[in-house]
Amino acid sequence: MHFTGRTWRPPYEADSCIIELTSGCTWNKCNFCSLYKQEAFGLTTLEKFEVDLQEIKSLQPNARRLFLTGANPFALSYETLKPYVLTVRDYLIKCQHIAMFASIRDIKNKDVWQLKKLRAMGVNGLSIGVESGDDTTLALAGKGYTSYDILEQCRKLEEANIEYYFVYMTGLAGKNNGYRNAINSARLFSQLNPYFISIDALTLFSDTKLYTMAQEGIFIPAGEHERLKELQVFIQNLKIRMHLFANSNSNFYPIAAYLPKEREYVISEIEQIMETFTEEEMLSYRDGLKSLG
Ligand code: SF4
Repeated sequence: MHFTGRTWRPPYEADSCIIELTSGCTWNKCNFCSLYKQEAFGLTTLEKFEVDLQEIKSLQPNARRLFLTGANPFALSYETLKPYVLTVRDYLIKCQHIAMFASIRDIKNKDVWQLKKLRAMGVNGLSIGVESGDDTTLALAGKGYTSYDILEQCRKLEEANIEYYFVYMTGLAGKNNGYRNAINSARLFSQLNPYFISIDALTLFSDTKLYTMAQEGIFIPAGEHERLKELQVFIQNLKIRMHLFANSNSNFYPIAAYLPKEREYVISEIEQIMETFTEEEMLSYRDGLKSLG
């Protein structure tokens, strides 16, 4: 298999076949992220892609799900993506889902008819790190889109019947702003239908802009207990039926729930975590983290 630079996949894609389509990130401007800072965005050749598909076929001829690498392969235009996704079924006849990371910015360059065609070719399962639905937080994070963009672009995905997942990041709004971020994000996400929401908690790494802002006192990080309270408010105010996972490394304590059925249970579970562990214990866990997820 050909892999260039950093290969990163979400925890829930662990059972998917991973294949390189792109490397790096077209944006590279999120203030909390340094994942692809050292890499330029790149696209693999169709020839290499086919060699890798052949290798997957030899090992997993019945593969049903493929995950395309890179921070946002969905940034590629419809015309550029098309030959790659069309080739997948030449090798993996049973492949049902061609999943990948996508940004809200990447949906803007596609019309609904193009999204529908991509869906018909097997594109399904977009992981979107929206991080927030609160405009102040989105601007602070440098995401390059607004809450209105999230609404408008995800509705296009829904019209095309493309399944998508959100990532929400607690702590991103900074000290004393978690409540506002949670309320506004839950309100926005409740107008949409993400298949599930995955939760990360902000970890400041020294090679990020947000870290520098924190050093300069421009950004004051939220405490660990405030992040958990933010998560409670977020869950309390989500009005859609879906799974929620707060079980990546960046979460001090792994939580998973099906909402709204397990809402009260999970809120009380978070309360118990706050009562059991001190701020210092949680901070020392975070200090040991090596990456965002
Ligand atoms: S968070 Fe994602 S979109 Fe933002 S810079 Fe990092 S990899 Fe790129």
